[in-house]
Amino acid sequence: MTDRPPAENWPQVWIDPATGERQTTLGRHRSGPYAKPLRYSEYDENAQLACWNCDWRGPAREGSRESYEELFDISCPRCETMLLIVSTLVTLEERNAAAAAGHPGAQTTVAEMEQMEARR
Ligand SMILES: [Zn+2]
Repeated sequence: MTDRPPAENWPQVWIDPATGERQTTLGRHRSGPYAKPLRYSEYDENAQLACWNCDWRGPAREGSRESYEELFDISCPRCETMLLIVSTLVTLEERNAAAAAGHPGAQTTVAEMEQMEARR
């Protein structure tokens, strides 16, 4: 992806105060669908993704993942359209909530969060 917003724009404004919807710099400058921003505790590697560009469908773990300092993104493995942007800035409360919720992938998520913390 060459149209990634500069790192200093991320992650910043998650909620559009006018509509209450999540917004991204990317989204504001594009028409149509755009990569969905998630908090790390909401990310589920088993969640089914659908690419709006090439119709690829599959679980998030099969997407191509690129990691940055404060986020990673999941792109379509076929056409590289960015599908998800996940903030890796998590609070302990969020981490515990994710584990307590017990959704599919939460245990993996929690394990990854712990790895991230260990690297700091
Ligand atoms: Zn695609």
